[in-house]
Amino acid sequence: MRLRFWGVRGSTPTPQPENLRYGGNTPCLEFRSDAGSLLIADCGTGLRMLGKSLMKEFAGRPIRGNILITHFHWDHIQGLPFFGPLYHEANQFHIYSYRPRGGSLGETLGGQMTQPYFPVNMSAMRAKRKYAEVSNKPFELDDFHIRPARLNHPQGCLCYRIGNNGKSIVLATDNEPGNSKGDRTLREISKGADVLVYDSQYERPQLEHEKKGWGHGSWDEGVKICKECAVKELILFHHDPDSDDQAIDNLQQRARERFPNTRAAFEGMEITL
Ligand SMILES: [Zn+2]
Ligand SMILES: [Zn+2]
Repeated sequence: MRLRFWGVRGSTPTPQPENLRYGGNTPCLEFRSDAGSLLIADCGTGLRMLGKSLMKEFAGRPIRGNILITHFHWDHIQGLPFFGPLYHEANQFHIYSYRPRGGSLGETLGGQMTQPYFPVNMSAMRAKRKYAEVSNKPFELDDFHIRPARLNHPQGCLCYRIGNNGKSIVLATDNEPGNSKGDRTLREISKGADVLVYDSQYERPQLEHEKKGWGHGSWDEGVKICKECAVKELILFHHDPDSDDQAIDNLQQRARERFPNTRAAFEGMEITL
């Protein structure tokens, strides 16, 4: 299985020069199974460049893929209207997430393209689209095995353990530790994983004070989970908009002192398992 990061920033895009080594686009991950099937996780602004890359790779041949969405905060869906492959009728995408409060999955995702927010609505997207609302039950997508679980985040968020050919990557973004049920669930799903991609937006003192209740995690919680659950590698993810490259280098350094096999995610980073 191969994973490529197209967006690693939390909350809002941050295209300032001092952030560009790690990148300013919001969450978007591309997975390819050993057999070559395409799985996208989250549709932040990084999705736009993934779309361009897919159109170049497929060069007019139909693109078929599955998309997992963790939740509906803007930083995780805002790339969707700019995902070029959705505008071509030969392509086909199957989109998965939980049913949000107040509407179906399709209605909610289309909501950001209704007026006055966007010039065309979702009917301009000619690709075949299907939506599926998932619970905590594991399911198969082509040759990927997917295990969803609920994280602790305002309005909800799903964590996904993504398995292929005996390898597994846990995507746990947008999660605030300190909720005993949520903490237990995340540890269960992370057990023995090859990689944990973890929300490292804040520092522990921020979580205990001014950022309490904002729904995010810290690098040291990621370290704890990896140690307790025998996870092989920690990827710091969902970088704070106010963390410039130097600040992220610093987080990475401190995390490595406690868990050497740690890297901070950057745009273009690839992991092959
Ligand atoms: Zn987020
Ligand atoms: Zn969020």
